[in-house]
Amino acid sequence: MANLPPDFIAENCTILEFALRQPLAEQTAAILAETPEILALSVSVWNHAATLELLGALEEAWSKTDGADGRPARPVIVLGGPEVTGLVDAFTAAFPAASGMQSEAIPALFRYADFVIRGEGEAVFAELCRNILENPAAAKEKYGKFIDASPVHPAAIRSAYDLYSDEDLRRKLIYVEASRGCPYTCAFCQSAANAGEQNQQFPAVHPVREFPLEEFLYNMERLLQRSSEGGTGNNVPVKTKTVKFLDRSFNINIPRALRILEFCLVKTAGLKPENALQFHFEMVPSVFPAELRNMLALFPPGSLRLEIGIQSFNTQTCALINRNSNPEQELEVLRFLREKTNAVIHADLIAGLPGEDIVSFGRGFDSLWTALTGGENITPAPFEIQPGILKCLPGTLIYAMAESGGFAVKYSKTAPYEVIETDCLFAADMEKIKNFARFWELIVNRRAAFRLLPLLPGMPVFDRFMELSQKLLNRFGKNWGIPKNALEDAVGDFT
Ligand code: SF4
Repeated sequence: MANLPPDFIAENCTILEFALRQPLAEQTAAILAETPEILALSVSVWNHAATLELLGALEEAWSKTDGADGRPARPVIVLGGPEVTGLVDAFTAAFPAASGMQSEAIPALFRYADFVIRGEGEAVFAELCRNILENPAAAKEKYGKFIDASPVHPAAIRSAYDLYSDEDLRRKLIYVEASRGCPYTCAFCQSAANAGEQNQQFPAVHPVREFPLEEFLYNMERLLQRSSEGGTGNNVPVKTKTVKFLDRSFNINIPRALRILEFCLVKTAGLKPENALQFHFEMVPSVFPAELRNMLALFPPGSLRLEIGIQSFNTQTCALINRNSNPEQELEVLRFLREKTNAVIHADLIAGLPGEDIVSFGRGFDSLWTALTGGENITPAPFEIQPGILKCLPGTLIYAMAESGGFAVKYSKTAPYEVIETDCLFAADMEKIKNFARFWELIVNRRAAFRLLPLLPGMPVFDRFMELSQKLLNRFGKNWGIPKNALEDAVGDFT
């Protein structure tokens, strides 16, 4: 919205945000009350189903409503975001010659849409809105349904940070981005440099694009200033505010990363508890020179959160998914972070990758656990291990491999496209890992991990926790909605 012409923003645009669990009637009522001429929705894998449901309810409401002021009741619907971008790739790859609109195979989301923007919308969306408001029929003629948006140079993007309300700054994560794109090519990832190339129709090379540094820091300064003044007003008690960088590989350009980290470090100094700040970065473990380590070691407790993507320690698997892998180096970086910094570490592993069975996955999990805990006798720094399940996201290389038979896998054809089984991982083992992940989240990640250490003496932890999570599932018959006390009692009984 920040990149629409200024007269649009001030007078004509409203941002509505909904939580996934918010009642559908509340969401539709809020949208209908605005009587929009254009309704634009951003779709990601996590809100795909919710968006479908919302659009279905809105269509029904509009079909029964007369337009006010001679305007049609139903607005022009524009969809964008990573999910529809991937779906356009997949759809046009499967039906290259289709005008598409009559096909039964067309994704349901597209049936509701008048326009679907594939790629980054900042520039194209503004132009499209102007055209729609002038003459909707001519806009359809001009653009067709699917609009390819080329990557936008960050220097041409207006900062959206002023659109954060005081309420946002008080209560929500603050998202910022200093760069876009990723130079790596992991087959499962929508941000990979080769995502979208597999259908050979679109030039889809996305090198990392950086926002002009001084302007970015100026915008951050203003944002943090607002946050510390208005964002804590009205005697509203606040938790630590987290500023989350969306950059996919923040440490890829070290001099630039150091400059931004230095800025953040200064901001963490001398803060009162009610103004506490935490900066969250996603970093690749392959780029950790001494100057970066020295800088990270300066951050005080609670002020730094690092997401370190591991995904797999199996080098053959990493080769199959085009991912850089050097397990020893990655483990050394994790040990360094644990021993020499105050960072809260979040590390991901993915189950269901090509060539990886449950034994290999468990070995990787144990390596990660050892690196992050340092064994039984050392109190670990706070950390989270997140075991996730592979998703075959449309538009990614892994999706193309799955569809072409290059990767023998069964996966859900609807969002979130989770893998059900592979030629290396039986469906039953996948279910066990899912159950493991759920209880791990409840018992370890959401509590201080050191409390669990006495419960898990010795190594390896994967097999022990797998056994525990299966017993818990047997006792409760579910892995959600379990009262905390009952869970604690059960863990006590079984350990
Ligand atoms: S390094 Fe991370 S963001 Fe980049 S392609 Fe791999 S998974 Fe995606």
